[in-house]
Amino acid sequence: MGVALVGAGPGAPGLLTVRGAELLKSADVVLYDSLAEESLLDLAPPHAERRFVGKRPGAPMPQEEINALLVEHGRAGRRVVRLKGGDPFVFGRGGEEAEALAAAGLAFEVVPGVTSAVAVPAYAGIPVTHRGLSTSFTVVTGHSRHAVDAETNWDALARLGGTIVVLMGVAHRAEVAARLMGGGLPGGTPVAAVRWGTRPEQRTHRTTLEHLAHAELEPPAVIVIGPVAALDLSWYESRPMFGRRVVVTRAREQAAEAVALLQEMGAEVVELPMVEFAAPADGGAALRGAAQRLAAFDWVVFTSANAVERVFAEVRDARAFGGANVAAVGAKTAEALARHGVVADLVPERYVAEGLLDAFPDGPGAVLLPRAEVARDVLPDGLRAKGWRVDVVDAYRTVPARPSAQELERAGGADAVMFTSSSTVTHFVALAERVPPVVACIGPVTARAAEAAGLHVDVVAEESTVGALVAALARRLEG
Ligand code: SAH
Repeated sequence: MGVALVGAGPGAPGLLTVRGAELLKSADVVLYDSLAEESLLDLAPPHAERRFVGKRPGAPMPQEEINALLVEHGRAGRRVVRLKGGDPFVFGRGGEEAEALAAAGLAFEVVPGVTSAVAVPAYAGIPVTHRGLSTSFTVVTGHSRHAVDAETNWDALARLGGTIVVLMGVAHRAEVAARLMGGGLPGGTPVAAVRWGTRPEQRTHRTTLEHLAHAELEPPAVIVIGPVAALDLSWYESRPMFGRRVVVTRAREQAAEAVALLQEMGAEVVELPMVEFAAPADGGAALRGAAQRLAAFDWVVFTSANAVERVFAEVRDARAFGGANVAAVGAKTAEALARHGVVADLVPERYVAEGLLDAFPDGPGAVLLPRAEVARDVLPDGLRAKGWRVDVVDAYRTVPARPSAQELERAGGADAVMFTSSSTVTHFVALAERVPPVVACIGPVTARAAEAAGLHVDVVAEESTVGALVAALARRLEG
């Protein structure tokens, strides 16, 4: 309720707190900074106002104005999330925002965030404290209203002996180094500067205090100074697909699994929505009708998780199936059924229509096939040939999505593109300005569609699953 100052964490979306996510999901207004990961905004409801209030060259918003906005929205009774990079009270001026809210008599909540001061070194494999090397860490800013922060006692810091973590220090790195060396810290003290930590763009630059002034660095970076900066427990930057950019073409609702797997392997993922699901032309009337008589069928055959969701949206619960058998053409479809309490009676070994036909019993009887409005006829034709009466019902329609110019540009510079269905191939070829050098397809049907569209297919998954596809692509990019 009211206004919340929420720490967005250092970048990786998974480093947002559970409470932060909860508040975002019910926000009316989100005011965000340049360092708050923008994909987190997707958590807010579609109607929520998303407003950038960060410092962007040319259009900086003064702090007083941000404070005033917070108070204004808070007074209007809106659910406001003030999303700030890292932790809101670590050099984020969150304290001033809380003061403004308190002065206005408004209730507010503070959701701490994972601060970059600790998380960014961690993602570079640097523990800020380490037995035998450092028993404390001090977080300082390399920048304030004055050039190098005059309020910081750099001499004392140089003598303290623990780890020094400098935020906002890139511009004044020469002065920071000079002051610390002036205070007695040896020029050979290890230094690590980590840019864009916890993000796919992360880069770690290692040097020593005496060379820091001339190190080629760009903000935003966390600079770690002290013996721990020589530790290199690298894990994030050494993931197999780290530094690789992969385009995932898929309807947004289904991309989650591929994206999660790729990210676990360190890849930077550009999610390019190619198709979106929409109601079929008849508004779902035929589907509603069929859903009322599910139990009258001998089999209900699902070819996609989306079809499962559409059918379940029309029934009260799984009892609507009565004694009907249920088939799922692939593992994801079977999982979607399982989420609704239905164990598929048949899942073919090969996750394609032909695989299902091979495994399907002979008729006679009645089969319901709820599926996309435009789809191949292999399945209904094959089932009829086996003696079944087949009711094909339009459960949904795929419509082309419109990626933004920015999304298309990022996609153009990618190392690979992944196709998980034939329709996305066609849409991609129509939209993309440049095809990434490596093309990966989930199975033979998609691969044929890609070749028909003039693409050279480099990778085809051995088994038609997202997991197998990601694994095959990783091998190809590594090799
Ligand atoms: N409240 C934030 C810090 C805000 S000050 C926090 O708790 O993390 C902004 C500075 O934070 C940047 O200049 C940079 O030094 C550091 N920073 C924040 N996110 C970073 C990231 N992902 N990678 C490197 N530095 C980061």
